Amino acid sequence: MISVIYSDEFLEHKTGMLHPERPERLTAIVKTLQTFPHNGQLQWRSPTPVQQRHSSLMTLLEKVHSPTHIQAVAEIANQGGGYLDGDTPVSGKSYDVALLAISAWLDGVDLVLTNANPAFVLARPPGHHAESKRGMGFCLFSNAAIAAHYALEKPGINKVAILDWDVHHGNGTQEIVEKCENIVYCSLHQSPCYPGTGYVDEHGFHNNVLNLPMSPGTTMAIYQPTFEQKVIPFLASFQPDLLIVSAGYDANHDDPLAGISLKPEDYGTFTKYCLQITRKILFGLEGGYDLASLSQSVVATIESCL
Ligand SMILES: [Zn+2]
Repeated sequence: MISVIYSDEFLEHKTGMLHPERPERLTAIVKTLQTFPHNGQLQWRSPTPVQQRHSSLMTLLEKVHSPTHIQAVAEIANQGGGYLDGDTPVSGKSYDVALLAISAWLDGVDLVLTNANPAFVLARPPGHHAESKRGMGFCLFSNAAIAAHYALEKPGINKVAILDWDVHHGNGTQEIVEKCENIVYCSLHQSPCYPGTGYVDEHGFHNNVLNLPMSPGTTMAIYQPTFEQKVIPFLASFQPDLLIVSAGYDANHDDPLAGISLKPEDYGTFTKYCLQITRKILFGLEGGYDLASLSQSVVATIESCL
């Protein structure tokens, strides 16, 4: 059984006409999953309502983000909407939706640790570009870093690894976790590409960061040995109690926002590598903007887990 956490409320983060990070991304994935052959092995869950965990969620949020940033998102939403930066819209409901997305990621942590089986969070807005003091790149709050901090509060959870296979470097996640010795962060991303961060010589404050920049046009012929020789040894040697995957699917060949040439089934292969380390894997959606390859890639990820 694989838990999938989703709510129609995630469609209420409106980004405007022609914005690539649009509600239809989730709708397309859900529609594809509902008709795929192993749908019976998925356990669909709604996220815990924010009111039920408001104070603990806010404490976690404030641990990761500055009060100024949190207030900025809340105020723009209260005013009916606006922009955090040129490509990061906030709509009237975006603040509430972003908190519900965090709640979904936290539920994902609980489900993975309870069931010792993977879970997939289908939420938006995404999070890996959100830094401690600012949102950017379609991201409001750092879902993955918040989920990692939440997991580390649990008894027996001492080490959390984050693997970020979104085509863009997770500058926000790295900035937040590179100071934490009990979290490691590994990112594969196109370089040069937005946001221009993620150099190979950055190792974090505790040798806990591994950046693997990829040239435009890279295919599985390079990704596969990179996983075998670098990603998996780095993550496995840390022996994490939980693996969080910032699962962006914009390294697909058909994706309009980048130039890497992966195929949807390649994400199934990445998932099999991850399962060699642990079954305690939380996948959380980040990017991925071509609806067909995005949906097929999520299916490939989940099929590898089943
Ligand atoms: Zn991305």
